[in-house]
Amino acid sequence: ERQINMAQAKAKVGIMGGTFDPIHIGHLVTAEAVRIEYNLDKVLFIPASNPPHKLQSLVTPAIHRYIMTILATYSNPYFLVSALELERSGPSYTVDTVRALIDCYGASTELYFITGADAVKDLPSWQNIDELLELCFFVAATRPGSISYIDQVIKQFGTKGRHSIQRLATPELEISSTDIRERVKKGRSIKYIVPESVEDYIYKEGLYR
Ligand code: ATP
Ligand code: MG
Repeated sequence: ERQINMAQAKAKVGIMGGTFDPIHIGHLVTAEAVRIEYNLDKVLFIPASNPPHKLQSLVTPAIHRYIMTILATYSNPYFLVSALELERSGPSYTVDTVRALIDCYGASTELYFITGADAVKDLPSWQNIDELLELCFFVAATRPGSISYIDQVIKQFGTKGRHSIQRLATPELEISSTDIRERVKKGRSIKYIVPESVEDYIYKEGLYR
């Protein structure tokens, strides 16, 4: 009987999109918190090939970001890395990625798109955001009682679409890839902010110097 129930349960897949230049502990802690809270079967990390918001700045070649994402997630059996956006040319729009995932997993799978506070702020400018909100759940991992614009965005989209944006209270570590790149450039330590394997890879490949 238990097996039948499990077979009937909807599959739940988390999506963690990002530039991951480089991936850091903030991404990993957040993804794991959402996985546990929403009882997800797995979390897909999807490095962006050509992030639409970052066209102007210089982004590290996708192959490095992809490899670092694999290294960082390797020890977690629930974490997987998808090359979906890397195999597609042109800018990566989340809506295209989510459509592709629905084609792949089928409509009965529930998708949970995971974002941090800064991504929530940008949400109104995302391509086809209304459709996106129909296609997947959104989980905004933010600090409890943090900045009110996040609540405003949640309110703005909260009633739209099939799914509303849900907020999950997380410690939201004060870590960003930008800060890590600057630290490497200045020769400062990045120990414990990125997994050791990622730290080793950055130095071995001479990234961010
Ligand atoms: P950059 O500084 O280059 O913008 P980043 O650290 O913001 O990099 P991204 O790859 O841009 O990392 O972010 C991917 C996703 O991870 C986004 O949804 C972002 O909000 C979230 N995120 C980034 N840093 C953190 C953090 N410290 N805690 C929780 N979520 C985070
Ligand atoms: Mg960012």
